[in-house]
Amino acid sequence: NMVKRASATARPAPSNRQLSGADIDRRVEALLKQMTLEEKAGQLAQYSVGTPTGPGTGRDDYETLVRTGAAGSLLNVVGAQETNRYQRIAIEQSRLKIPLLFGFDVIHGHRTTLPIPLAMASSFDTELVERAMRLAGSEAAADGIRWAFSPMVDIARDARWGRIAEGSGEDPLLGAAMARAYVRGYQGASLAEPTSVAASVKHFAGYGGAEGGRDYNTVDMSDVSLRQVYLPPFQAAVEEGAATLMSAFNTLNGVPATANSYLMTDILRKEWGFNGFVVSDWTAVAELVNHGIALDGPAAAHRALTAGVEMDMESHLYGPEIPRLVREGKLGQAVVDEAVRRVLRVKFALGLFEHPLVDEKAAAYVATPEKRELARRMAEESIVLLKNEGGVLPLPSSGRKIALVGPLADAPVDMLGVWSAKGEPRDAVTLRAALEHRLADGKGTLRYARGTGVLGADTSGFQEAVAAAAASEVVIAALGEDTSMSGEAASRTRIDLPGNQLQLLEALAATGKPVVLIVFSGRPLALTEAQVHATAIVQAWQPGIEAGHALTNLLWGEVNFSARLPVTFPRSLGQVPLYYNHFNTGRPAGKTDLTRPPAGPAEKYVSRYLDERNTPLYPFGYGLSYTTFDFTPPTPSASTLSARAVQKQGQDVLRVKTQVRNTGKVAGTVVAQLYLRIQGASTAQPVRQLAGFQRVALAPGESRTLEFTLGFKELSFFDSRASRVVEPGTRYDLWVGDSSEATQHASFTME
Ligand code: BGC
Repeated sequence: NMVKRASATARPAPSNRQLSGADIDRRVEALLKQMTLEEKAGQLAQYSVGTPTGPGTGRDDYETLVRTGAAGSLLNVVGAQETNRYQRIAIEQSRLKIPLLFGFDVIHGHRTTLPIPLAMASSFDTELVERAMRLAGSEAAADGIRWAFSPMVDIARDARWGRIAEGSGEDPLLGAAMARAYVRGYQGASLAEPTSVAASVKHFAGYGGAEGGRDYNTVDMSDVSLRQVYLPPFQAAVEEGAATLMSAFNTLNGVPATANSYLMTDILRKEWGFNGFVVSDWTAVAELVNHGIALDGPAAAHRALTAGVEMDMESHLYGPEIPRLVREGKLGQAVVDEAVRRVLRVKFALGLFEHPLVDEKAAAYVATPEKRELARRMAEESIVLLKNEGGVLPLPSSGRKIALVGPLADAPVDMLGVWSAKGEPRDAVTLRAALEHRLADGKGTLRYARGTGVLGADTSGFQEAVAAAAASEVVIAALGEDTSMSGEAASRTRIDLPGNQLQLLEALAATGKPVVLIVFSGRPLALTEAQVHATAIVQAWQPGIEAGHALTNLLWGEVNFSARLPVTFPRSLGQVPLYYNHFNTGRPAGKTDLTRPPAGPAEKYVSRYLDERNTPLYPFGYGLSYTTFDFTPPTPSASTLSARAVQKQGQDVLRVKTQVRNTGKVAGTVVAQLYLRIQGASTAQPVRQLAGFQRVALAPGESRTLEFTLGFKELSFFDSRASRVVEPGTRYDLWVGDSSEATQHASFTME
């Protein structure tokens, strides 16, 4: 009695219409006919210009590779003059004059550095993220870069993993919404617009599930978890028309992602209809030898290409090995031709054949007021208020003596954050700079002391910091991680405040002055101890060039906090991985009082730790505001749904209404969140999962009726054979509110 939506054999429509059609096909086929095998392999080879070449390295220099048609794409070419220089070689000196496609890690801005992706996800504001990525893409395009290695849509449930900073957090629905926003921003209405860049959705797939949170590590998960948790953002990006994907470094259920035909052929092409191309991650093709599934480079190239990786980033294998494999009869021409077609289609769709060069005389980069305004709004919407005891925030508008302490109070590089290759630290406004400006002209007194370093054990700066605190009315402590502590190859086994920063915080609190803790980090930190000493806590992430302005606007209440956590903040590392949309166990969580021993078997044999509660310190979706909001219980448009009708109708099968009211004294924006739980199904389902969200701005006292629309996608789940289904005889619980601990409840049944 299970109801399926689509049969597995139905051929899906092409994911991006700009990459298909008679015109583009004709041009691709005409070109393909003229290409030698070496030229075909060249289109599938991507090289980074940073890697040494020339005499003694056994590698041709990049000019030669381009001139001979042996490179289809370059990465890490910096600036319009350099992209043009290489492009001229390609279109003037190579035999077939096929333009190069330049790729770059445009991650959260190109020249204008915006908040890191995990921060942007905290905004729950897909429209603003789309605008931000439009800006990033257009700045890259002006440099001749028409391909961004972004978005990273890897779901991450493990704060140890440094790359959690680069994604949108732990939730598949939020992750999917953000993935779409990035793709829309980068690719615009048409790839052919000179300001559009092709997106590269990465890292396909499962990369965030690395064992132990150690980067590049093995990933082992059920097919149901893969599909229910990790794949939705990829599928959403593909549906949105993403032109390319990047394969992941990791092994997934025994098969390295870069040679995984189940992922790249069965799911990506056959199920989703993806008609762009896949690029490997950096040297990931060569790494198949280390993974142990290929004896040598040629075998690795063979495995990757036949599984669905069309372009080899930096392994230097496809270029030389593909022609050899074909000549030896080990690889069919048709496989090579199909890969070349996919790459050429993207080049045609981007209009590279018509407009291969960019304007070198374009004005030098300036962080204009318009760009700053966007970067500031993005930061203001990304920074989360976690604690505000006794209303210490907002700070009064004048007459304040403020101590600013900490290693991140005046650290421009750490405001830019991970992956900001083209961002300039001099463009970043630190908290110190913004405070100096704000407190100038007698509006207040600022005492600044660094106190300690991010990782230091040296306490010699404590005294000055404590003296500054003692002489002030309020302390702002800017603590956390520096930029190098998260991102790629930056996993940690400790996730509390690094170095002796907690000790500094304690010393500051001991002055009796209220301490406003500003946490800069690329991951959730375990703030359990810090929280004891801080009167208020502001999670600032790595906020980009407008860090200082955004923070001071928020601290003084000129802008209200509206961000919500896209990841769970654990109490302690031992709880990790900790995420809100987990399964239940058969046992209750038991008592929460850890100070006394269990009274009997009923208290002992429960699912818990002996020394820590199960609950997070701050849950997913949580964030405070200077006002408060009230929700009425959700009202579903039906108390019973028919599984068959849900399956048939697809979209818009249930409407859920609620009324939200601003119950405080100031205007504010709430992120209204709808959660659901399915019980009685053939597979266990999460205790809660996000089914919709909306940002709603409300004046004091104002209320608004909100409506969430649910369809097959939100109401279905994966059965044990990993098919998406809705099942009759199930009960759906709904909750609405402003965090994953929302309490306003209703339910309906599926018949
Ligand atoms: C990273 C990718 C990145 C690529 C190119 C790799 O090490 O995993 O995310 O796009 O390098 O720089």
